[in-house]
Amino acid sequence: MNTATYRALDWVSAEYQPAVLGLCTLTALGFFFAALWPKLKVLLKAKPENRFDRPLDRVWNTLRIAFGQTKLLKNKKSGWMHALIFWGFLILILRAGHFFVIGFFQEMPVPLPGFEAIHYLYGLVKDIVILLVTLAASYALYRRLVIRPPRLNLSGEGILILVLILAIMASDVIFEGAYFSLNPEAGTFMEPLGLGVSFLLAPLGSDIAVFLHNLAYWTHVLAILFFMTLLPGSKHFHILTSIPNVYFSNVTGTGNQLARIDFEDEDSESFGVTRMEDFSWKQLLDLHTCTECGRCDNFCPALKSGKPLSPKELTIDLRNHLNSAHGHAGSETSDNPALLGEVIQDETLWSCTTCGACEEECPVMIEYVNKVIDLRRGLVLTEDRYPEELTKAFKSLETNSNPWSFGRDSRADWARDLDVRLWDKDRPTEYLYFVGCNGSFDNRGKKISTAVVKSLQIAGVDFSILGMEEGCTGDPARRAGNEYLFDMLATQNVETFKENGISKIITHCPHCFNSLKNEYPEFGARYEVIHHSELLAQLIKDGKIASGEKSGEKVVVHDSCYMGRHNQVYEAPRETLAVKVPADGIFEVETSRERGSCCGAGGARFLLEEKVGSKMSHNRVDELMTTNPDTIAVSCPFCVLMLEDALKAKGLQDKVKVKDISEFLQ
Ligand code: SF4
Ligand code: SF4
Repeated sequence: MNTATYRALDWVSAEYQPAVLGLCTLTALGFFFAALWPKLKVLLKAKPENRFDRPLDRVWNTLRIAFGQTKLLKNKKSGWMHALIFWGFLILILRAGHFFVIGFFQEMPVPLPGFEAIHYLYGLVKDIVILLVTLAASYALYRRLVIRPPRLNLSGEGILILVLILAIMASDVIFEGAYFSLNPEAGTFMEPLGLGVSFLLAPLGSDIAVFLHNLAYWTHVLAILFFMTLLPGSKHFHILTSIPNVYFSNVTGTGNQLARIDFEDEDSESFGVTRMEDFSWKQLLDLHTCTECGRCDNFCPALKSGKPLSPKELTIDLRNHLNSAHGHAGSETSDNPALLGEVIQDETLWSCTTCGACEEECPVMIEYVNKVIDLRRGLVLTEDRYPEELTKAFKSLETNSNPWSFGRDSRADWARDLDVRLWDKDRPTEYLYFVGCNGSFDNRGKKISTAVVKSLQIAGVDFSILGMEEGCTGDPARRAGNEYLFDMLATQNVETFKENGISKIITHCPHCFNSLKNEYPEFGARYEVIHHSELLAQLIKDGKIASGEKSGEKVVVHDSCYMGRHNQVYEAPRETLAVKVPADGIFEVETSRERGSCCGAGGARFLLEEKVGSKMSHNRVDELMTTNPDTIAVSCPFCVLMLEDALKAKGLQDKVKVKDISEFLQ
């Protein structure tokens, strides 16, 4: 890259050039801030939320996900395409600065000894980057115009941005090539693109080279300035917000992303989200950050089964409402479209299983589950509107502490013949086995609790149960938006645990596990909570559970969303399984582990009829059946119920069994 005076820049005389360039820059900045300010104002006025803790984790996430583009690179082609453009722009920011410096000062200053050498080296890097960005942007254009993947919305704005990127790349090369053609002694192999263009321009004469040099210069700077003005007013705002959005993303784990409501706050007129101003600043920043890439949609089980929920469209609808005058915080009036019921349909919100597949895929760390639950809270707590099935469930949770109207006094009946101790605070055992509603009342669930008990007894684990004193963790109430009820149930359980001096809890239900481990600490109760899959795997390692004879069955593993994605427990169920099934008998489907599909029970969906579209559990069984298994291995009692029902509906119940991992040890 040559640092000498660019003498051929003569469309504007040297005397006026800084003023003209300055005027263009100020105008662009004016447009930029005029579009940015209303959005910034709304963010600054939005509800507070502390996302400033754990700075080191945040920096690490930013380096990995934003700068390393790790999530995008999960999709090879589109990932590399986007990553090359992103990394390329990081390198070419210096080059853009160079254009403005020579525009204002005529010359590129050479401040330090050795700087010249760095400049030359940068020239080569810059040319390689220009080539790669040009290839990536051309492929992006081809994809949008010719391939047209269904997850992408074909927008004129997206095409304009790509054209501007290509114009910025081409003008850079022509600018340098024209200069080399006018000053052959300056041409260098360290800038092969410019040198190549200079050879092409040489026969055309100096007038053409001067013209192209000027044209390329102004094309370059004006394209950059125009690009800048487009950002705040369009979906390409994400170019500015993605890095901060990743920095401020959830570092506590997706199993712990719901905020407790202060019901004592007398100033609160409503609970949950009923208007855009009820969202926190981070939730609004999420909306501005959506790139509309549609990766979330690709893995959403609700959308795949034909429910009226597309996480991408939900985000876009909320953003459009936010950006419309009506949606601006503080400007809601009675004739506005209501956020709940009009902008976002109730059925959209009730379709979500809170499985977190969308969050796992989103390359810019947008959080959906907390928005869905906040909106459900608005429906339930403020607008008193929810599906019919929940009326009975809420009532039963309140009176019987389980969602199915079983009497609380029958909670321990399943254990009658099992020689299981009831918790005695004067003779406490090491662990409390927290059975959960499914394991206490459902006939299939009781078999799983029995298998867990037998395994623990074989291994000599010192445990007891709370029996009638155990109550629902409140997970279904919380996921259904009834935070008040969750608060009540969690408070009752915490009191019981405290009175009984409980500190270590085993549970086989991932929903209980998640609540007790991640959500109860907000109620002043921090326990050592262990899922039975983790404990069983440990007992096997310690030699307390013998492997015995291996089974010859062909087993496919199904991951529960609340153990896997929400708590990153993937190995323990597999390790437990491995004690009974040889490695060549254990199969994985493409959609397993982080990409595992939900069975359809999460998010309190097990309480709701699935009236629209196909059943999520049927879709999951179809995926699992691609391995032609004898057995589906599961570590969640709700997944067991959903998958067994799906197998029955498909007439496969005699061919394929569903087993909790504890049942493999019997
Ligand atoms: S949490 Fe699951 S069901 Fe809900 S929007 Fe995301 S992917 Fe879809
Ligand atoms: S929410 Fe995330 S994954 Fe979904 S379209 Fe937007 S950026 Fe893409």
